[in-house]
Amino acid sequence: MNCERCGVDATLTHRDVDGFAYYLCEACLIGWDAVRSPSVGARDEARSAAQ
Ligand SMILES: [Zn+2]
Repeated sequence: MNCERCGVDATLTHRDVDGFAYYLCEACLIGWDAVRSPSVGARDEARSAAQ
């Protein structure tokens, strides 16, 4: 399964963020806890690049 934030294929952990359920890798969990709101733009950027 791929991380919903960075797209890496890894063991993911379920996380509720702002009312949405995400599956994130360990690295992203740490980053998400450190900086929540500034990561929103980066996530959208990664998603559009993947398409
Ligand atoms: Zn990740």
